[in-house]
Amino acid sequence: MTKFLKYINKVTAVSILIMLVNLNILIVYSANTSHHEQNSSLNSGQILLFNEINAYNHISSQLDIGFRVPGTVEHDLCADWIRNQINSHVDSVLTHNFTIQKEGQSAYECQNILGKLNTDKEKIVILGAHWDSRNVSEKDYIDRNLPIPGANDGASGVAVLIELARALSFSTTNLTCQVWFLFIDAEDQGYTNGMYGIQDWGYVEGSPIFVENIENFYDPSEENLECFILLDMVGGTNLTFIKESRSDDNLHNGIFTEGRLLGYNESFPFTPKIMSINDDHIPFTELDIPVVDLIIDFLYGDWTHHHTHSDDLSNIDPESLKITGRTIESFIKTYYSNDSNQTWKESDYGFPIWGYSLIGLVIVVMATVIFLYRKK
Ligand SMILES: [Zn+2]
Repeated sequence: MTKFLKYINKVTAVSILIMLVNLNILIVYSANTSHHEQNSSLNSGQILLFNEINAYNHISSQLDIGFRVPGTVEHDLCADWIRNQINSHVDSVLTHNFTIQKEGQSAYECQNILGKLNTDKEKIVILGAHWDSRNVSEKDYIDRNLPIPGANDGASGVAVLIELARALSFSTTNLTCQVWFLFIDAEDQGYTNGMYGIQDWGYVEGSPIFVENIENFYDPSEENLECFILLDMVGGTNLTFIKESRSDDNLHNGIFTEGRLLGYNESFPFTPKIMSINDDHIPFTELDIPVVDLIIDFLYGDWTHHHTHSDDLSNIDPESLKITGRTIESFIKTYYSNDSNQTWKESDYGFPIWGYSLIGLVIVVMATVIFLYRKK
């Protein structure tokens, strides 16, 4: 009889354990679902015009120009090309000329290029991408002294920005913000694996000079900087964005939620890798505005062509360009339209997903302890 009771006890304990595990899965699942549904009204009824084939062709055109390394003819030709491309979509195009000269080295003429859309609005959303390409391929096994094509690292961000300018130019009457398209020079010539792109240069040389001089480009008494969104390496195969650790949580959540609402769950995962990356968004934090670096894990991730000769068209996926472009277009139309009263600035995520998982884990651990105790 005691044996039978013990047996019943065991069965009950196992059943309870299984039930609790199921309950945990259910809680996490419903948390995910409600999280999704809670925001599902965001981008309803919008028509997205971003075209990934246009963006892909913009990458191809940049590679046709050549290596966009400061100090070369191709670099200056590409600057002209960007101005020509953006000019027909925006209200004005401005050039920010600056010189970089390190001690004992020759001077390099550089330029940030700014296209402004919808300039009669007060709020300014800045979209940025670097347009220079790296002068060495230090991560390759061959010809490490030669430049990289920079199809993803450089050209992809530029391509998405130009196509976004076209896509958003049709909606200006409904948009409640200006959109700036900022093409940043001198980002990619710093020191890695014993090699400089250009001798003694750091990474991120062009954006700090722009931030220093930003008051030459708008009127702070009448216009407000809203946020800065950086696109870097957004066109490669297996697109999976990370959470850059100094990116603003709410802005990051707003963009990732938008991406998932469009169905891009793999590219905007619920639990992205968290990494710290020195990129063009960092100088913009000095302006006390939210910033985001939309970037992949180029160090240990699925895209393995960073700073090699294979950063070329064969490792670009038009689908990745579409995912990035449509998400940003949708994000802007969701939060900056006349018929929208939504904001990404206040987190409406409620109880965090990891909280549900933690509760579930505690329940399972407790149940296991009880089970083992009763077994004794
Ligand atoms: Zn790079």
